[in-house]
Amino acid sequence: MKTIGIIGGGQLGRMLAMAAARLSIRTVILEPDPHCPAAQVANGHIVAGYDDDRALGELASHCDVITYEFENVPEKSAARLAAERPVYPPARALSISQDRLTEKSFLNDCGIPTAGFHAVDSRADLDAALQLFGGRGVLKTRRFGYDGKGQWVFTGAGDDAGAAFEALGGAPAIFEEWIDFACEISVIAARGMDGSVVSFDPAENEHSGGILRVSRVPARVSGDVIEKAKIAAEKLLSALEYVGVAGLELFVARDGRLLANEFAPRVHNSGHWSEAACVTSQFEQHIRAVCGLPLIDPARHSDCVMYNIIGDDMDDIPRYMMMPGALVHLYGKAETRPGRKMGHVTVLSPR
Ligand code: ATP
Ligand code: MG
Ligand code: MG
Repeated sequence: MKTIGIIGGGQLGRMLAMAAARLSIRTVILEPDPHCPAAQVANGHIVAGYDDDRALGELASHCDVITYEFENVPEKSAARLAAERPVYPPARALSISQDRLTEKSFLNDCGIPTAGFHAVDSRADLDAALQLFGGRGVLKTRRFGYDGKGQWVFTGAGDDAGAAFEALGGAPAIFEEWIDFACEISVIAARGMDGSVVSFDPAENEHSGGILRVSRVPARVSGDVIEKAKIAAEKLLSALEYVGVAGLELFVARDGRLLANEFAPRVHNSGHWSEAACVTSQFEQHIRAVCGLPLIDPARHSDCVMYNIIGDDMDDIPRYMMMPGALVHLYGKAETRPGRKMGHVTVLSPR
C-alpha cells in the first residue's frame, strides 16, 4: 500500500487525506499542531516544524511520495525531501509562487497576462509606481500574504504612501495596477505524470474582507472566457512541468481583459465544490496525480454554489443540515474565531 507524506495539517491536508483513504492510500502529515484538522483523519502524524531536519528525514522514511497543502513550505525543506523521495508539485512551483514578483513575471513569460506591476524595493520605487499607475492600485508584500493580508489599496485620492509603506513592513513589495473587474474566476487544473492536463469548470468567486466567501459554478462568463482561462492554466502547468493540482485565480476585467492574479501550487479553496458536483474531486485528482494514477475527466453533474463557513457562520450550520441538496463539510476545528475557516457547504442544483 502506498503512503503519501503531506506537509501541513490544515483543512486542505485533511481533505487530501480523506480522498487518499478512499483509494486505500495511506497518509502521514508533518505539522507542529497536535490538534490540527488533518490529524483526525491521517494515518500518521509527525508533530514537528516544517524545517525540522530529523522530522523531514522521518517523513521521507515513512512515505513513497511527498506533497504539501500550503505554498509557504520552506524551500530548503522541499529540497531536503526531494533528495530522498519524489516531491510533487515540483519545488520550482513553490519558489515561483512564494514571491508575487517572480510569480507575475513567470505568468507573463508563459504568455499569461496579469495586471501591470512594478517592483517596490524602496520608498522611491513606490512613488514611481504611483506615478506610473495614476495613483491607483494595490501595494502588496511580495511574500507570505494570504486572505488579503499584507495589502494596501490606493484609491487615487488622499492616500498616505509613507503610512502604507510602513504598515507593510517596507520592501520588498510589489505595486499592482488597480483592476476594475466584472468578476473573479479561478481554474482548478491537474497535470499528471504523463503531461496530460485536465481542468474543472472555472468557478466565479466572491471575496469580502480579502477572504473567499462564495464560489459559484458555472461562472457567469462567456464560453470564450472559460476557454481562455482553461488554456492559461494548461500553459502554466506545462511550463512548470507540474504534477498535481493547482489553482489559478483570474480577473475578468470590465475592459475585456482576462488577467491572472496569482496561482496556488496546491488544492484551492475555490475548488471545494468539486467534491459535491463532480465524479472526482480536486483532492482525488491531486492524489491520483502525485501517485502516477490516471487523471479522469472530472465531469460536473450539477451546478452549485459553495459557501465558506467562516467564524460565526457556524450558526447557519443547523439550517444547512436540513437543506436538500446541501453537502456540509466541517473541518473539526474546536474553536470558532472571527475570520477562521471552519468548513464549507456546497448547495447543488442537478443539471
Ligand atoms: P489568497 O487568500 O487568495 O491567497 P492573497 O492574500 O494572496 O489572497 P490576492 O489574491 O492577491 O491576495 O488578493 C485578494 C483579493 O483582493 C483578490 O481576490 C481581489 O478581490 C482583490 N485584489 C487583489 N489585487 C487586486 C488588483 N490588482 N485590483 C483589484 N482587486 C485586487
Ligand atoms: Mg494568495
Ligand atoms: Mg488570491
